[in-house]
Amino acid sequence: MSQDCIFCKIAQKEIPSQIVYEDEQVLVFHDIQPAAPVHVLAIPKRHIDHLLAIEESDAPLLTHMMKVIGKVAASLGLEEKGFRVVSNIKEDGGQTVGHLHWHILGGRSMQWPPG
Ligand code: AMP
Ligand code: ZN
Repeated sequence: MSQDCIFCKIAQKEIPSQIVYEDEQVLVFHDIQPAAPVHVLAIPKRHIDHLLAIEESDAPLLTHMMKVIGKVAASLGLEEKGFRVVSNIKEDGGQTVGHLHWHILGGRSMQWPPG
């Protein structure tokens, strides 16, 4: 656990969140400022800064996370029309919370390119 990390605190249940999926390694919860009709965040419970901090030994965790993301998106009704998965990395990526996470966005047509 990283001391001042808000997502570590959410993973430890020190800060409440609206959980939509949980297992030993992964938590998925509603974004507090939704940018789409469906907007949830998938995090590893263990602190990892961002994609650049991933190591080879994290491969099983990451494969599991991708499967969870697909299953949760389907469970939220996004399977038929589709959805977007985004991970923002550092300043230019727009990362505001320094704990690896994937946004799962859906329920409306997404624009491209992103702003
Ligand atoms: P990013 O800007 O890509 O780092 O994404 C961080 C996301 O976390 C933003 O969409 C925030 O709205 C969301 N967020 C921040 N604090 C909380 C919280 N306490 N509970 C749920 N979502 C949060
Ligand atoms: Zn953390």
